[in-house]
Amino acid sequence: MIAYPILWEGGGVYLPEQHLWLDPKKARPRAVISHAHSDHVADHPLAYATPATSRLVTHRRPALGSLEAVPYGQSIALERCQVTLYPAGHVLGSAQTLVDTDFGRILYTGDLKTRGGFTSAPARPIPADVLVLESTFGKPHYRFPDAAEVIAAVVAWCRSVLDGGATPVLLGYSLGKGQEVLSALAAEGFTIALHPSSFGVTEVYRELGCEFPAYQRLGETMGRPAVVILPPSARRSGLAHQLGEFKTAALTGWAMDRSLRDRLEVDAIFPLSDHADFEELCCYAEQVGASMTYTMLGFDEELAMHLRRRGLRAKALGAVDQLRLF
Ligand SMILES: [Zn+2]
Repeated sequence: MIAYPILWEGGGVYLPEQHLWLDPKKARPRAVISHAHSDHVADHPLAYATPATSRLVTHRRPALGSLEAVPYGQSIALERCQVTLYPAGHVLGSAQTLVDTDFGRILYTGDLKTRGGFTSAPARPIPADVLVLESTFGKPHYRFPDAAEVIAAVVAWCRSVLDGGATPVLLGYSLGKGQEVLSALAAEGFTIALHPSSFGVTEVYRELGCEFPAYQRLGETMGRPAVVILPPSARRSGLAHQLGEFKTAALTGWAMDRSLRDRLEVDAIFPLSDHADFEELCCYAEQVGASMTYTMLGFDEELAMHLRRRGLRAKALGAVDQLRLF
């Protein structure tokens, strides 16, 4: 008996009955793009996304195929289903996807954050019959501390680096983390410089209604010592070396792995994430109350095991695919 045919296909979730893909990595005929991070975007002939995600995607990939903007909470009717997007809390425009079918309600979280952030509304559980849950931090030692404490530690680190005559460089992705960090520093009175890729995305965030403290593009004249926000990929570019003496700090949920600081070759590391931590993922699954939870990406097998220990029916979606259930 297969009530909900859900497969792992094309690097994403596939609903064959509805001929609909959710976040496939490869181009597929019809897909939902949950948010604008590049590992969730491909050149589909037809795709659905929130208006903010559509804008961010076309900022980064202007030649993308047809993108239909679907605001949060508005349902669209497709083959054998209705699709509704809800906030996912991960980055601006990020969405959970609820697919209402004749068999029941399927909720796909995409990348998920349940804590409040500065730039996107937190994810709230949507009641569903089947939950497809991201598992990036699906192991118990990923328990993130209070964000306000982490931000206070980041600020103190920036001040000590500046006092020492060097430039503090905060490493965060140009879409999402960069804007969260910028917002977190709002009250501190720092001069803030953004890498050009973060600067461009931040301008789009502003166009979409977000407010930030003053910032400038890295490379423009800086009157005072500045805090620099740089995507991790840019740290070894020439731009970083224009700064004179500098110290780097990574802002990532992976900071809970103690060996990471050495591997990343940074001076400091702070556990600031745009995902839910382990406990938040487990509580979220419990609150959705689905009769079946499929975990995907990251620590999918581990998270499914812990959910089963907590009394839920759960399985890694990749493992289900191998069983050829339909
Ligand atoms: Zn993401």
